[in-house]
Amino acid sequence: MCEDCNCEQLYNFRDEDHFFQFEKKLQSSSKLRIQDTGEKNSEPLLKTKETYYRCTSCSTVFVLSTNLDNIKKSFFLTQDNSDKYKAKLQSKDKVKSKGCVLLIVLLLSLFMFFTLY
Ligand SMILES: [Zn+2]
Repeated sequence: MCEDCNCEQLYNFRDEDHFFQFEKKLQSSSKLRIQDTGEKNSEPLLKTKETYYRCTSCSTVFVLSTNLDNIKKSFFLTQDNSDKYKAKLQSKDKVKSKGCVLLIVLLLSLFMFFTLY
């Protein structure tokens, strides 16, 4: 990062207004140019849309990830931080789904226990 693109990185947004104002600011920035609308990297299952911005001075790439379900969960980070953050979010999801499977197994065994005895 350099002086030109040393803008704040955001892990989430306060509300829709905050997000759209920030997006407007990005689009009007003369230093950050859209490099890729990230169609191929967007994940329809996660309902996110990613836009990549590159700093014209130092070539740092930033990712604006828009969460279409919950705009507050959108983020704006350097590509490195974005990758790390996404990995963290995904591992959280895995823990959640493991929890669900355990709960189902538990309920099923309770059900079988009560119907059999
Ligand atoms: Zn820069």
